[in-house]
Amino acid sequence: MRTTGIPVVPASFHFAFSDKLFVFRHSFSLGYSVKFDKIKILPRNKIIKRKLMLKFLKAGVGIVSLVSLLSAGENGVHWSYSGKSGPAYWGNLSSDYAMCRLGRNQSPVDIPVYDVYDVDLPPIVFSYHAKSTHVSNGHSIKVTVDPGNFIVVDGEKFKLRQFHFHSPSETRIAGRSFPLEAHFVHVSDSGEIAVIAVLFEKGASNRLLEKIFHRAPAVANIETPLVLSPKEIKSLIPSKNGYFRFNGSLTTPPCSEGVRWLVMKQPLTLSKKTLERFKELIPHPNNRPVQPLNARVVLE
Ligand SMILES: [Zn+2]
Repeated sequence: MRTTGIPVVPASFHFAFSDKLFVFRHSFSLGYSVKFDKIKILPRNKIIKRKLMLKFLKAGVGIVSLVSLLSAGENGVHWSYSGKSGPAYWGNLSSDYAMCRLGRNQSPVDIPVYDVYDVDLPPIVFSYHAKSTHVSNGHSIKVTVDPGNFIVVDGEKFKLRQFHFHSPSETRIAGRSFPLEAHFVHVSDSGEIAVIAVLFEKGASNRLLEKIFHRAPAVANIETPLVLSPKEIKSLIPSKNGYFRFNGSLTTPPCSEGVRWLVMKQPLTLSKKTLERFKELIPHPNNRPVQPLNARVVLE
């Protein structure tokens, strides 16, 4: 299906009728006609849902270049969270950002908790053994880490590159927004991306967040040393392993798709004071608005 030089976008949609789940998958090249390559009719039961999950996940996972993840958004055409360079215009700012406008599997999303597929997702295996090195200020407060932290998803290793924060949350759960969200960005050796999202609600203070935001530079484009132990980094992941999973994109330009999104169900807490500190560092909302789910399904 791949056409030379033209990005191919896998997509799918489904509807249920009687006890059957009708699943349509197609791939199309941007700017070219849509061509269906698969139509399936499946009984609507849990075993099939499990198979479906794998098919959907394989269908929606493309290769996102590491270069686009780690540099284009930082060093490319200027973008912001408001005005004429804000989220509504990202797709027009540069041809490199076209996916922000054309993508059908964009993030973040509002997770429809009453319409997700229960497929008994396997626990995410966390193996965090390396420390953090720096914290920086820019579009977000970002903590960079040494190599040596990884998760295993679909039997594949995804190495933690950095984690960063958005306020208010980008992800919504049944319409609910949270005051803060952390994204742990992992990349596999083949350049595929898996993001662990952790939501924070107001409550007891989180010592780690306090430490990170206390050390973070107040000025953009500066980084300062910050050493967090592997144990400290791991403490920012909820102890309960339940999560939602869906295919999505980077939530900042170039909005590349093919990202495995793993949203932890259990929120952590942060104090009002810590949230205020974050707002001093990033004195404007840094959340992309939620994007349509389109043909995607959310699994749990
Ligand atoms: Zn993010």
